[in-house]
Amino acid sequence: MPLTGIAIFKLLPKTNCKECGDSTCLAFAMKLAAGKAELAACPYISEEAKEKLSEASAPPIRPVTIGVGDRALKVGGETVMFRHEKRFENRPGFAILISDTMDDAEIDGRLEKCSGLRYERVGFILRGELVAIRNDSGQADRFEAVVNKVKEKSDCGIILMSTNPDNLAAGLKACANRKPLIYAATKDNLERVADLAKESSCPVAVKASDVEELAELTDKLSQAGIKDMVLDSGSKSLRQAFEDQVIIRGAALTKKFRPLGFPTIVFPYEMTDDPMKEAMIASIFVAKYGGIIVLSDFQGHSLFPLLVERMNIYTDPQRPLATTEGIYEIGTPTESSPVLITTNFSLTYFIVSGEIEGSKVPSYLLVKDTEGLSVMTAWAAGKFVADTIAPFVKKCGIESKVKHHKLVIPGYAAAESGGLEEELPGWEILVGPRDAAHIPAYLKTWKP
Ligand code: SF4
Repeated sequence: MPLTGIAIFKLLPKTNCKECGDSTCLAFAMKLAAGKAELAACPYISEEAKEKLSEASAPPIRPVTIGVGDRALKVGGETVMFRHEKRFENRPGFAILISDTMDDAEIDGRLEKCSGLRYERVGFILRGELVAIRNDSGQADRFEAVVNKVKEKSDCGIILMSTNPDNLAAGLKACANRKPLIYAATKDNLERVADLAKESSCPVAVKASDVEELAELTDKLSQAGIKDMVLDSGSKSLRQAFEDQVIIRGAALTKKFRPLGFPTIVFPYEMTDDPMKEAMIASIFVAKYGGIIVLSDFQGHSLFPLLVERMNIYTDPQRPLATTEGIYEIGTPTESSPVLITTNFSLTYFIVSGEIEGSKVPSYLLVKDTEGLSVMTAWAAGKFVADTIAPFVKKCGIESKVKHHKLVIPGYAAAESGGLEEELPGWEILVGPRDAAHIPAYLKTWKP
């Protein structure tokens, strides 16, 4: 049972020293109880109190890591129901399904998709993270062979899927050092699978026929010493699975109900045979509240939008994606090359730089720090106006890189051209296109 704020307060030093950032120990205790503070923020808590408080200060949804090294995937750790309250912490992982009844060519093809379908967007690499290996053959040796193949050919995280603990043990023998997710403990095999999870120190998925049974099973596993769990409520319809996700998240966050305080796993392919509907269902679980989303296959035309959706939802709504202020050289610009300026909203930067690159006209792009705001928003907020642009242009060092003094400003900031000519004596201010798509045509007309 989580401790109340008052119970936590009794274990704190009660000196009100404020080093944790709160004005009193009581205020800190209340935040801790609500999962909005970290125990480590108070340097004076005794070891004994720390032990007692660690449970109370743990995130309401336990973070669980699958895999090792650079490709390890952390899911869970969420603290809010809605993104605008704070932010979502750990993006859900996408898994591609591989059955151990598939032939080698099919398995190889899927592994290639898993590593090959990767996209760069606003400076981030987007890709799926996991391979879910399903033991449809029912044979331990075949399962182990396929797990070995996946392990050798892919650095993705692994989910071992079987209802037979002996076969799960065979799969674990092949890849326990990669810390796979063991799927799944059920009411029929709970003790055997719990032993496998403990022996291998791997996370385990718990599968039940409904949320109530799920809570009973996780409770038993917790008592058996299992900490890292992933929840499958067993729903086969979109409506039920969606309701289960909301119930699980709500119970963990608002009721602090520990038996449901774990990330979830969902299987959209079990809810439809239509690949496009499967992608749409997956998109719902990206938003609410899938921890791992297993897809029947990875197809670029459906995986890419899912990855972009995930990126958008799991960015911090209070901190726009921003690019570092500075001079960016596109192509190999010379002292006669055009000089353009834009804001440091990442999407703006990547669109503008992409269009300049596409124009094949080597250029300098000045990126002004506007706290991640786009051109129009920054202009309206007074962060991309003559008074702020001019000092940046003077100090950024562009004057020593070009022999001309012509600066192309975005069409949406045209109103600043007069002010800039006053603030930047000797510079000619040119108004570029409003729409980045017109930059290539504009640059073709460039004369230093
Ligand atoms: Fe109290 Fe610790 Fe915060 Fe100091 S740092 S006010 S002792 S909770």
